[in-house]
Amino acid sequence: MRIAAGLVFASSLAASLLTSGTAWSQAQRTAAAPAPAAAPAPAAAPAAQTQPPRAPCMNAEALGVGRTVEIDTTGGPGFGFEHFKDLDFLRDHEVVLTFDDGPWPENTPAVLKALSEQCTTGIFFIIGKHATYYPEILKQVYAAGHTVGTHTWSHAALTNKKLSEDQRKEEIELGISAVKWALGGNSPAPFFRFPALQHPPEMVTYLGTRNIGIFSCDLDSFDFKARNAQAVIDVTFKKLDKLGKGIILMHDFHKHTAEALPELLRRLKAGGYKVVAMRAKEPVKSLPQYDEQLAKVAKLPTVSQRPVSSVVTTVSE
Ligand SMILES: [Zn+2]
Repeated sequence: MRIAAGLVFASSLAASLLTSGTAWSQAQRTAAAPAPAAAPAPAAAPAAQTQPPRAPCMNAEALGVGRTVEIDTTGGPGFGFEHFKDLDFLRDHEVVLTFDDGPWPENTPAVLKALSEQCTTGIFFIIGKHATYYPEILKQVYAAGHTVGTHTWSHAALTNKKLSEDQRKEEIELGISAVKWALGGNSPAPFFRFPALQHPPEMVTYLGTRNIGIFSCDLDSFDFKARNAQAVIDVTFKKLDKLGKGIILMHDFHKHTAEALPELLRRLKAGGYKVVAMRAKEPVKSLPQYDEQLAKVAKLPTVSQRPVSSVVTTVSE
């Protein structure tokens, strides 16, 4: 049996301060400068920084954040009633917004804009390869104060019997190392979602040994099948109004989701739903061997950001 997760409900006072634009949150923002996005990446010896808080909210009508919960992922707790039914922590009309498969140009920034306009937040489950393609977009997700989790290196189905156990672990671990690299050395949360929500038991056990929480969902928006933005909204609310709460699975990778989000968030507010922010008690600890492997796989610079002219000098010709 799984070790029960500790769910520490962070101060609702802090959550309300974050959404109300107070001097307190201004002070926190100032203290968090400079923004990580401005930092060169990859750094030779990246120093982990504290993630900046979300910006103060300027929209009095915004959806906002109802409360923030801190998750102790010791033992690898599972969330989302489609697969894991031990941890029923959401109250009636509470939702968690989750976004998979990014970062991706245009769609991820559009999702970030919609979340920002409504002063709300979600968890982004990142594909490692995509993080290496678009580290600057991932940095924007992190800098905006959203929770960053991981979603394997290449989105391989980990139930694929052609993959050895080592290859499955590599998919998980390289994904973590890639996100850490893309964030300039800042580690993501120990939050993981399996591709296609396929949960091979031995990898569920492995994540338990790594103290990484597993995220299924309560309702799937099926946005990857949607023909347009309206279909994303219709499927989501048909399920949500029936369940009354839940972790919602969406994809910031998809155009229709990015297009649907402003209206979807307005409808959540109108329907009396409250967004719950899920934060990790501690960041995940990447494994050094995979950090090194990532550097080789992605052919990434690991030592120096110096310009060629400062490294190579013609002394005769
Ligand atoms: Zn996915």
